[in-house]
Amino acid sequence: RKIIIAIDGFSSCGKSTMAKDLARAIGYIYIDSGAMYRAVTLYCIKNGLFTNGEINIPELELRIKDIHISFKLDEKTNLPQTYLNGENVEEEIRTMEVSSKVSRVSAIDFVREALVNQQQEMGKEKGIVMDGRDIGTTVFPESELKIFVTASPEIRALRRYDEMVAKGMEVKFEEILKNVKDRDYQDQNREVSPLKRAADAILLDNSLLTVDEQKDWLLQQFEK
Ligand code: C5P
Repeated sequence: RKIIIAIDGFSSCGKSTMAKDLARAIGYIYIDSGAMYRAVTLYCIKNGLFTNGEINIPELELRIKDIHISFKLDEKTNLPQTYLNGENVEEEIRTMEVSSKVSRVSAIDFVREALVNQQQEMGKEKGIVMDGRDIGTTVFPESELKIFVTASPEIRALRRYDEMVAKGMEVKFEEILKNVKDRDYQDQNREVSPLKRAADAILLDNSLLTVDEQKDWLLQQFEK
């Protein structure tokens, strides 16, 4: 019997690595809900919906129905790629510019409504690992396995820094740490489905765990 696995938690805490590894190990589909909020943010940037950091909400509301997000596996790497209106935007949605604006977009009620609907639609096919902020609380409150992941902000910023440097991106640690803390604050304090642990989610602080230890822990939870 296949189930839905919800993995929520703070920014850059390694949720997506965990979720991807688990999905691969158990033959489930992985869905990165954060990529969907990032794709809407990228759409806003590309279509001039931001002026001086402020977003044109009425215009976005008119256009939200024209924003189509989908996922496809890359044939060579077998890694999931995010598509925005048919275009592969996997790299573009990971830039600091998108990271620094996404919390504002994800706080908008009609954006959340549209994306939550799409996520629930994707969940109709069971055998899914979805990661995000509100998967266990709002998208799939009935899911059978919920994990809430956390780690200290410094450790999370350092991991993200190493990842971006490895990709050859030019970044400053201080800037990333500030972004991680800002997003924590905004995600926890927004009005619509703020980031919080579902009462029945299992807490995992992975500050001191390696990727492999994390994967083993997660597999154990799944097999319970
Ligand atoms: O997971 P990731 O860091 O890529 O998510 C980017 C942003 O998208 C988060 O900071 C948060 O504002 C938003 N998000 C959300 N709900 C989700 C997933 C992501 O609000 N389920």
